[in-house]
Amino acid sequence: MIKMTTSIAIVGSGPSGFYLADLLSKKIENSQVDLIDRLPSMFGLVRAGVAPDHIGTKNISRQFERTLQKDNVRFLGNVEIGRDVSYDELKSIYDIVIITIGALEDRELGIEGSDLDAVYGSGRFVAWYNGHPDHRDLNPKLDGKSIAIIGNGNVSLDIARILAKTPEEMVGSDISQHAQDAIAASTVEDIYLIGRRGPIEASFTPPELGEFAEMTRCVPLVQNIEVPAEVGEGYDPRDAKARQRNLEILQEYAANTPEQKPVRLHFLFWHSPKAITGNNGRISNLILENSAGESVNLPVDTLFSAIGYRSKAIPGMPFDEQRGIVANDNGFVESGVYTSGWCKRGPNGVIPANRADSMDVAKRIIADLEATPIVEHKAGSHAMDQLLNERNIRVVNNEDWQRISQAEVDRAPEGKPREKFTSIAEMLAVLG
Ligand SMILES: Cc1cc2nc3c(=O)[nH]c(=O)nc-3n(C[C@H](O)[C@H](O)[C@H](O)COP(=O)(O)OP(=O)(O)OC[C@H]3O[C@@H](n4cnc5c(N)ncnc54)[C@H](O)[C@@H]3O)c2cc1C
Repeated sequence: MIKMTTSIAIVGSGPSGFYLADLLSKKIENSQVDLIDRLPSMFGLVRAGVAPDHIGTKNISRQFERTLQKDNVRFLGNVEIGRDVSYDELKSIYDIVIITIGALEDRELGIEGSDLDAVYGSGRFVAWYNGHPDHRDLNPKLDGKSIAIIGNGNVSLDIARILAKTPEEMVGSDISQHAQDAIAASTVEDIYLIGRRGPIEASFTPPELGEFAEMTRCVPLVQNIEVPAEVGEGYDPRDAKARQRNLEILQEYAANTPEQKPVRLHFLFWHSPKAITGNNGRISNLILENSAGESVNLPVDTLFSAIGYRSKAIPGMPFDEQRGIVANDNGFVESGVYTSGWCKRGPNGVIPANRADSMDVAKRIIADLEATPIVEHKAGSHAMDQLLNERNIRVVNNEDWQRISQAEVDRAPEGKPREKFTSIAEMLAVLG
């Protein structure tokens, strides 16, 4: 008897897509996995979100690349589902479809003035300094003296750190050159990191918070509150330990004075953004409300909001508009379709959290296949290749990506791991 191939399409080559490709290619006998991405590059937010000076974190991509050495896993880059191939077509071609498209759209700040030009969602800004083709031309306004960052999580810390570091401190990073040049030319003197809640509730992690202690030109300050000494009740022991460490770091920062260095990072707790004033696209003031209900005017030139992300709906795919995720029940979307990662559970969790999530989804898929074996297999990769060929899509396979990646490494100046191509055309030009 001929064993039929179980064809699997995974849409999105971020951590979730790679974890699932690895698991399913191993666990489902006679499977063929196509890992599809809209970009010619791989790795999702590992390449386009993780801060460029945290190169150690980005090294996980080497582990992901090993998955593509398996005979039954292919990369189909430069193929956008919903544009080049529809969701319904994908379902008709593959036995199993898994959506791992992440959550890359910025949540709206939703206050008066948030449509001013110098207001940017963190996703766009982070993508800009990381050289993502969608936002390479963002050209953020960095020629003022004062910048506000809304949100008390690690993304806010990343943004503050990248803005405050000197070019020398960025040596060894893979920041895109256009961003490095713009940041080096920036005239910023005050960065305000603004949170609705207090230091105990902030979702910083201690290593990232602690990085500001030793910066060349930036001094971290906590001026408007007494930093509490103890976390108090209500947190599980590990979480409480991290929060306690945050308090200790913030207490050290509270002992700093503004004159110490030319750039000041102000941690402003217990302040909620209420409105942004300005004209001709330019911001003049950020209006905040403090915990006493008083209005506080903060003169700022540029504002970044790091208050979360939404997934982008693919036409025809079940979508939870309110939560901004793929509509799903523990990873199950509809017959033959599953989801995992940030687009399944929302934009929370570091890279390893997606592994645990993907393992759960893989178990669910395998259990479903055992309960209801596929009677009639679909055409899979062969039909996909035919369709993409008919549509003249220049598919970027793993070998192509290796060439693009090597060209990025080769053109980088000494000491820099790579100089990313920031447009799809540049990437494809490498392939001739
Ligand atoms: C600014 C920032 C910094 C972070 N820093 C860290 C850190 O230091 N350490 C850490 O552990 N975690 C960090 N994280 C979290 C980590 O990046 C996420 O946990 C992880 O990337 C989520 O993986 P994912 O696969 O679900 O989504 P993603 O990584 O977003 O991958 C989604 C992929 O889907 C592709 N895609 C989207 N739509 C389509 C479509 N229609 N067709 C085809 N392909 C599509 C995208 O191009 C992308 O490659 C950070 C996140 C952000 C936002």
